[in-house]
Amino acid sequence: MTMEVKLLAFDSFGVRSMATYVETRDVRVLIDPGVALAPRRFGFPPHPLELERLETLAAEVSRHAEKAEVLVVTHYHYDHHDLGDRIPLKVWEGKEVYLKHPTENINPSQKFERAPLFLKKIEGLPKQVNYADGGEASYGRTLIKFSEAVPHGANPRLGYIFQVSVDDGDSKLVYTSDVEGPVLQSQTAFILAEKPTLLIVDGPMTYMLGYRYTVENLASALENLKRIIAETPVETLILDHHFMRDLNYRTIASPIYKAAKSRGVKVLSAAEYLGRKVEILEAVRPELYKQFKPKTRGTKGERPGLE
Ligand SMILES: [Zn+2]
Ligand SMILES: [Zn+2]
Repeated sequence: MTMEVKLLAFDSFGVRSMATYVETRDVRVLIDPGVALAPRRFGFPPHPLELERLETLAAEVSRHAEKAEVLVVTHYHYDHHDLGDRIPLKVWEGKEVYLKHPTENINPSQKFERAPLFLKKIEGLPKQVNYADGGEASYGRTLIKFSEAVPHGANPRLGYIFQVSVDDGDSKLVYTSDVEGPVLQSQTAFILAEKPTLLIVDGPMTYMLGYRYTVENLASALENLKRIIAETPVETLILDHHFMRDLNYRTIASPIYKAAKSRGVKVLSAAEYLGRKVEILEAVRPELYKQFKPKTRGTKGERPGLE
């Protein structure tokens, strides 16, 4: 069989997530079993429509997490892992688990709060827990590689992540996790070296432009994406997550579409790839509240510091 990649939950579906299921002839893997919502945008908490979407997609991720033999967590943000309230803890039972190192190359909130909390929750459930930064694992002819820890974006304030590549001998997936672009050479180097055919990138964090994401960050992200298109055999580039929190994504990505077109590369959000309607729900919250007035302003499901 050829590699099957299922895009389970993404920002273009209306939640914050990059949960991806990969099945090769040798192994079933789920990368980043988590789904979350923006705690507040434009002063609004999540709209009931978003909460409904969150539950639907969490169920989808849970189903595939259960089916997977290998579970990967690239870092301890709640859109990439779950503490058992949406993705049931039983999915960790008997699994081979590859985790971002919980004490090395990590920021204080993940090191002292989120990682230990998560490790305690899953304690005793997996068959094997590996801290995977810079490591690799093979299953038959399938090789899974984890990059060295690289910063979450332009600097390590939000911590570090690892990127993942899955190679079944015929095709290769690279999943960047939260590189915010990629902005840095250290992040781009892994992608260039791995030479993916399918690439899933979180993309530039332009909804924070001028605030937590600079014009220079965006410029280097666009340059790095163009370089990846020119220098790797990538056929399909999924640009989603951070990038799909901005309604202007098409305008911002126009140099990328142009570079891709000249090389016959497809650049799409996860929703566009699947032929779904793009639904950036968090970016249209004020309209959602106007159109569908909830009886009460839902705060169920809201957790502080969701990123
Ligand atoms: Zn993150
Ligand atoms: Zn994220």
